[in-house]
Amino acid sequence: MSRILVIGGGAIGLLTARELAEAGAQVTLIERGETGRESSWAGGGILSPLYPWRYAESLTALANWSQARYSDLCRELQAASGVDPECLPSGLLILDPEERTAALGWAQAHAMRLEQLQPTALAELEPALGHTADGALWLPEIGQVRNPRFARALRRAVEARVLVREHEGVTELLITAGRIQGVRTHQGILEADRVVVCAGAWTAKLLAQLGDPPAVEPVRGQMMVFLIQPGEIRHIVLYRDRYIIPRRDGHVLIGSTLEYTGFDKATTAEAKEQLYRAAGALFPLLRHSPIEHHWAGLRPGSPNGIPYIGAHPQVEGLFFNAGHFRNGVITGPASARLVADLMLARSPILDPSPYGLHASR
Ligand SMILES: Cc1cc2nc3c(=O)[nH]c(=O)nc-3n(C[C@H](O)[C@H](O)[C@H](O)COP(=O)(O)OP(=O)(O)OC[C@H]3O[C@@H](n4cnc5c(N)ncnc54)[C@H](O)[C@@H]3O)c2cc1C
Repeated sequence: MSRILVIGGGAIGLLTARELAEAGAQVTLIERGETGRESSWAGGGILSPLYPWRYAESLTALANWSQARYSDLCRELQAASGVDPECLPSGLLILDPEERTAALGWAQAHAMRLEQLQPTALAELEPALGHTADGALWLPEIGQVRNPRFARALRRAVEARVLVREHEGVTELLITAGRIQGVRTHQGILEADRVVVCAGAWTAKLLAQLGDPPAVEPVRGQMMVFLIQPGEIRHIVLYRDRYIIPRRDGHVLIGSTLEYTGFDKATTAEAKEQLYRAAGALFPLLRHSPIEHHWAGLRPGSPNGIPYIGAHPQVEGLFFNAGHFRNGVITGPASARLVADLMLARSPILDPSPYGLHASR
């Protein structure tokens, strides 16, 4: 049986470990802190790229593959873990009128359900919206998961088959004669036949020892959550790059900023003010609702948001699955399956060439 090490316990590492263990591999996952506490905790959990028509086909292919399987995945995770990831078919309203032409062309090309809503239909669908005069684009099939619960469900679901080592940071990849031998951690050496790096925003740091690391860099995102009566806001709403996500229990998220501030996870008063204003402009009731929490996470940014998935060209047995930028929750299941296909020499679900280390992005 092959011994595989997965480095990083975010959504990508957990999904990858799950795929590999399901195929019968002996898998150990190593996480520097606690699993599911970084970007995968901080995100919004929308099961679609924002403005999906702005992305390359290679990103759309990962998102579409995952979208078709998300409700089954959540059902399986809940059955295995007892944790409900709150996979809800909320639907997505996009209020930017200038997106219409691109959106309609994209929806037709990808057989996605997308409707144009007139102002009265929009006001009926989402009565608490402050501004309905321009109508909206309506994507009824887009859903969401609740990130902390999704990560917890994944963690519990893999525990039966994957050895999870937390509070153990990998400090070095051990390579002899062009082959991976294992890793060095703060606690010692772990040997392995294959290693897959799923270290999110920290991936380039880990691969830097090899020279020419992938162009993954931290991109800070700040979010806030309000608490209102459940059902007062019903759908995910997107307008001018800000989005509102209503959870089932009345929590309502507003996101997010996009900041190139290195590995700094601090929140700022300026972002809080911007998010608060954007939330109140979309839904006036939020101006009078309590803010429960304001936080920041570090997305694993990559050129054009296209993740790095594949084998390292110089080191046998070394793989990566990282750089999912704004879309790691929605593209995660496909990425995990694809990297597992490549590691286990199975026929891949998608052409892997756009995700290679040196693929043009
Ligand atoms: C504000 C915000 C909103 C978002 N909204 C959405 C959304 O709506 N939909 C969507 O699809 N995506 C969204 N995302 C993006 C998504 O959250 C990320 O793409 C995804 O979580 C990346 O997962 P990951 O496992 O690669 O990274 P992470 O979750 O950051 O996990 C990486 C893990 O690797 C560990 N690690 C790093 N270095 C080492 C080491 N040396 N040794 C051991 N462990 C190590 C870290 O501790 C961490 O736990 C959002 C992100 C943010 C920040």
